[in-house]
Amino acid sequence: MTELIDYPPIVKVALDVPLRRLFDYIVPTEGLAPQQGMRVRVPFGEQTKIGVIASCNQQSDVPIHKLKPLMTILDNKPCVSEAILRLCQWAADYYHAPLGTVLAGALPKRLRLGESLPDEMPLTMHDTSRSVLRVPGHDLNAEQKIAVDTIIASLGHFKAFALDGITGSGKTEVYLQAITRALAQGLQVLVLVPEIGLTPQMIARFTDRFAIPITLLHSRLTEKQRLAHWLLAASGAARIVIGTRSSVWAVMPHLGLIIVDEAHDSSYKQQDGVQYSARDVAVQRAYQANIPVVLGSATHSLETLYNVSENRFEALSLRERAGDARLGRFRVLDIRNERLEEGISTRLIKEIATRVEKGEQTLLFLNRRGFSPILICHHCGWVVPCPHCDSYMTLHLSPERLHCHHCNTVRKKPRQCLNCQSDVLMPVGLGTERIESVLNKAFPNTEIARIDKDTTRKKGSMEAYLQAIEDTRYLILVGTQMLAKGHHFPNVTLVGIIDADSGLFSSEFRATEHLAQLIVQVAGRAGRAEKAGEIWIQTRHPEHPLLDILLEKGYHAFAQYVLTERKQAQLPPYTYMAMIRIQGRKADVLQAVLTEAKQTVSPENLRAVRCLGPAPSPMEKRDKVYHYQLLLWSYQRSALHDALNQLTHFLSHNKSARTLRWSVDVDPYDTF
Ligand code: ADP
Ligand code: ZN
Ligand code: ZN
Repeated sequence: MTELIDYPPIVKVALDVPLRRLFDYIVPTEGLAPQQGMRVRVPFGEQTKIGVIASCNQQSDVPIHKLKPLMTILDNKPCVSEAILRLCQWAADYYHAPLGTVLAGALPKRLRLGESLPDEMPLTMHDTSRSVLRVPGHDLNAEQKIAVDTIIASLGHFKAFALDGITGSGKTEVYLQAITRALAQGLQVLVLVPEIGLTPQMIARFTDRFAIPITLLHSRLTEKQRLAHWLLAASGAARIVIGTRSSVWAVMPHLGLIIVDEAHDSSYKQQDGVQYSARDVAVQRAYQANIPVVLGSATHSLETLYNVSENRFEALSLRERAGDARLGRFRVLDIRNERLEEGISTRLIKEIATRVEKGEQTLLFLNRRGFSPILICHHCGWVVPCPHCDSYMTLHLSPERLHCHHCNTVRKKPRQCLNCQSDVLMPVGLGTERIESVLNKAFPNTEIARIDKDTTRKKGSMEAYLQAIEDTRYLILVGTQMLAKGHHFPNVTLVGIIDADSGLFSSEFRATEHLAQLIVQVAGRAGRAEKAGEIWIQTRHPEHPLLDILLEKGYHAFAQYVLTERKQAQLPPYTYMAMIRIQGRKADVLQAVLTEAKQTVSPENLRAVRCLGPAPSPMEKRDKVYHYQLLLWSYQRSALHDALNQLTHFLSHNKSARTLRWSVDVDPYDTF
C-alpha cells in the first residue's frame, strides 16, 4: 500500500542568520495566501524572526512533523519585487552570503523590523502633458550627442557603457539628457553616487534641471524618511532616484536606466557584512532587467577598462571640451635632496606663497589624518603601541591624544618613554594635522582648512566646508582623499600631493591604480580654463616609470601599462580573486580552522584554484582580536566559486568555526 501524504502548503523563508540556506515553514490554512516576496514572522529556535518568502512549495526535504507553522504573513502584497528577489539571489550566490542577509540589506530598517506597508502605496502622478524639465538642457557637442543617442537607442535592452571624460567634459549633462529622454518614455531612473554629503553640487544640477521631485536614498536620512522615499521608489511615483551604495537594491517597477557616477569610487564596495560592489550589482541588475547601465568616470577602474577591451562594455568618450574641462600642468618635485619643512619642501612652500599673495587657493593632499603616525623615543627607539592591535598609536594635537585608527582606543600622550624613562618623545611621519600646523607657522595670517574624517564628523560640516571653499574663505586646504571626490574648485590653482611614494611602493596590488586615480581626479577638480592649475607631486622617485607614463601619456596609457603588469602577475582582472577572513581571540584556533577548511577543497578544484594561507592578516591583532585569512585566485570563476562553496559549507557546519566570525570577500578591494 502506498502512502499518500497530503502536504500542506510550505514556504521557503530567507532569514538574516549566518546559515547559507532557506528555512521551511508550514502555512496555516486560514488567512492570506503566501506569495514570493512577502515578509513573514516565524519561530526560530527560542526566538521569532522576520524573513522573506523566497518560494512557495508543496514539498520539503525535512519530514513534515518536524516543520513548524509560520506565525504571521506581514504583507498582503509582495514587499520585495520579483526582480529584486532575483537580484538578491544572484548576489547571495555570487558573494557567498545568506539570501536573508542580502535581503535584510536591501530593505529599509523599518520594514526589516516588521512595520507594515501602507495600504495605499504612493501613486504615480503621470501627467505626461507637462514637461519634466524646468529649464532646457545645453546644446550638446558632437561627442555628447553620440553618447546620449547611443544610450537612448539601447533603452529596452541590456548594454553596459563606460562613459569616459575628465571633470568638466560634460558627463553630467549626458546623464541629464539621457534621463530626460528615458522619463519621456515613462521610465524610472536610478542614479548611484559615491556619498551624498560629497555630491551637493551634482544634486543641485538635478533639482535645477527637472521640474519633478528628485528622490534621495542614503544613510543620512532618518529611518522614517528612508522608508517614505523607498516607498516612493517602490510604487513607481519617484521617477528619479539618486542614492548611495545600498540604493542599488531599491524596488523600482518601471526602472529603465541606471547611472553609476564616479564608478571607480571605493565607496561602492561594501567592506563589511555582504561585501558587494554596488557597481557590479548595478551591471547585473541592468542585465537581469534588460536595460542599459552607464558607468561614468574620468578614471575608470582597471576592471572596467578591461571589460571595454574585451567588448563586454561599450566605451563612450568625451574628449572635446564641453564646459571648462582641462587638466592642470604636472610638476614632479624631486625631494631627495630638498630641505623639508616637516614633510613639505621649501620649494612647495614658496609656490604656495605666490598663490596666497594672488588670493588663489592651494589644495594639499595627504592620505593620513592625525598629526603623525608614530611617537618614538629619541633615546631608545620605543614606539607607543596600541594595547589592542598590532599597530601604533597616531598622535593627534587637537585635542591632544594618542588615537588608534583601527580600534578607536584613545590614550593620553605619555610624558616619558615607558622603556627608558627618557622624556624626549618625538613624532615621526606625517598626518594632515601636522601639515596644517607647519602651514600655520609658515602662513600665520592665512586661513587654513583641514578636511578629513576628524573635522567632518558632524552632519552638514562637509557641505559647510565646500561652501566656504567656494567662497574663497580659505586660501589653503589640507585634506585626505575625501577632498578629491566630486567637487570642483575653480579658485584652486595649485595642488600638492605630499607623499606619492606611499602609493608607488605599497604591498596592496591596487595601490598604484588608486594613486593615479587620485592624481588625475585632483588635477581635474582644480582651476578653470583661464586659470589652469599646477599639480606638484612630491616624490623620492621622480623617474618612476608609472609616474612618467601617467604624467606624460595620461591615465589610459597608465592603465594599459598596469594591466600588462597585472596580467604578468596573474592578478585581477586577469584572474578572479576572493578572500576568506576569520577572526577570534585565539590565533592557533583560527589557523587550525582555516587549515582544516582548506583541506575540504577537492583536489580537482585545487588544481584550478590557487589558495594561499592560512596566514595572519597584514595586521594580525586588531582591537584585541586576531585576524587570519585565506587568499584564493583562479583563471576560472566557476572553479573559484566551487572552492568557495566547499569552504563556506565547512565553515558553516564546523563546530569551532561556528563560534567565530568569518566572512567571504569576492573581488576584494584590498587584501587587508
Ligand atoms: P562633468 O560631469 O564631466 O564634470 P558637466 O556635465 O558638469 O561635466 O559639465 C561641465 C560644465 O559644462 C557644466 O557647467 C555644464 O553645465 C557645462 N556644459 C556641459 N555640456 C555643455 C554643452 N554641451 N554646452 C555648454 N555647456 C555645457
Ligand atoms: Zn626610550
Ligand atoms: Zn588599536
